[in-house]
Amino acid sequence: MTDIRNIVILTGAGISAESGIDTFRDGGGLWEQHRVEDVATPEAFARDPDLVLRFYDMRREAIQQKEPNPAHEALARLDDIWPGELLIVTQNVDDLHERAGASRVLHMHGTHLNAWCTACDVRSPWRGTLIERPSCPACGESALRPDIVWFGEMPYEMERIYGALRNADLFVSVGTSGAVYPAAGFVRDANALRVRTLELNLEPSQGSGWFDEARHGPASELVPEWVDEVLIP
Ligand SMILES: [Zn+2]
Repeated sequence: MTDIRNIVILTGAGISAESGIDTFRDGGGLWEQHRVEDVATPEAFARDPDLVLRFYDMRREAIQQKEPNPAHEALARLDDIWPGELLIVTQNVDDLHERAGASRVLHMHGTHLNAWCTACDVRSPWRGTLIERPSCPACGESALRPDIVWFGEMPYEMERIYGALRNADLFVSVGTSGAVYPAAGFVRDANALRVRTLELNLEPSQGSGWFDEARHGPASELVPEWVDEVLIP
């Protein structure tokens, strides 16, 4: 691993699942008994804002009760001491990477712990509920929505992500299904850029065949092992 300097790590639901955070991919396409199209699209929010706000209020409350696991902790350890460039691009909307101590984290699908004002476009840190239509701390309007990238919306900071991939020597995908684009396409972008690729996932993902190397097992075991390998050349 001595020739590796710049690393991009993509993380997905699989890493948070071991902390007890479930996703819509568990349980036959249902998410807490809701269909994705009823709670995680702009159309759903326009149609039934109470349902959507209540759903995200519940998720926001739930993630604050969860704790980072050894996979988050290992990535935070790597982030802390890795001398080269490193970017943890997470599809997760919890804050478990940050609570484990990682600082180079990009939330491409937003975060539960922000509220986004559709009146003034300001994002404010938020830990409470939105169902009662609180006013925006910046402009005072009651126009806050979850700062979550819903299906049909554009993920955040794609230019920064592609910039990091162009500079990377290694792309690692942790706990992602390989089903949700554009993240699922990063491995092929990395291949086109001749960036080395590694998959760490519970089982072969839909894109497993695109990786130079794939290891399968729980993230809480695979990630600490891999971090040890990278740090001890
Ligand atoms: Zn506002």
